[in-house]
Amino acid sequence: MSEGQSGLGGAMKNIVVWLGLALMIASFVWWQLLLSPRQTASYGRANAPAPFTLVVLDPGHGGQDSGAICGAIYEKDLTLDIAQRVDHLLQAQGLATLMTRVGDSYVSLQDRAAVTNRARDCIFVSIHFNESKKPVSGIETYYAEHQTAPAPRLVSWIPFFQGPAAESPTLASQSLARFIQEAMIARTKAPDRGTKAEQFFVIDHVSAPAVLVEGGFLNKEEIAKLATNDYRDQMAAAISEGILRYRDVLKERQLTLAVSEPHPE
Ligand SMILES: [Zn+2]
Repeated sequence: MSEGQSGLGGAMKNIVVWLGLALMIASFVWWQLLLSPRQTASYGRANAPAPFTLVVLDPGHGGQDSGAICGAIYEKDLTLDIAQRVDHLLQAQGLATLMTRVGDSYVSLQDRAAVTNRARDCIFVSIHFNESKKPVSGIETYYAEHQTAPAPRLVSWIPFFQGPAAESPTLASQSLARFIQEAMIARTKAPDRGTKAEQFFVIDHVSAPAVLVEGGFLNKEEIAKLATNDYRDQMAAAISEGILRYRDVLKERQLTLAVSEPHPE
């Protein structure tokens, strides 16, 4: 062994190595303490967000903000009407809901996001209608490509936590958007304008899976059907179905992962 012969340089090297090691251990312990038991459990199931327990429904516009207008129909009234219908359907399925507004009142986009970010285990569904004088029609559902998480994910920089941390809200938002869009098209037979990425404030500024549905155009092409009870029922049923389908898939994935959990790769 050359230990006895090591000079001052060798000793310094040893000290640096031990300091580095101690720092690593200390930061690891620190992060472990920061993780609450609940979070530890959920991060253990890589890539499987727990099925949500609350649906935040966000009827677009309200109060002095009418949104799009076509004849006597205001977007703010239509969004509230559809949200209320969805609300009833989800509650009938035993899901908890939260409306960002319940009447014709103005709620800022910041407040809508803040309410959602204070809730736990939720998803966010914003309801809007499009505006265009052109002869266009159809339904589209948006998700944000990058979501601002106000409470930063604690462990994203630690290499061995990369798997669970890679479970980004964006992927969840994208699949929620797809389920809602598919259900909407299947039920309403409206032209399919697809799912699209867009940094709209309310879906960008929430950390939960979030989508914004544009349920049709307030124009000559679509206003007549949007005015009917039947069509509104179909839209609400479709949004509710999309949400429930998304939840079922989360549950299935959790089951699959729970079965395979004793054999980590
Ligand atoms: Zn709108």
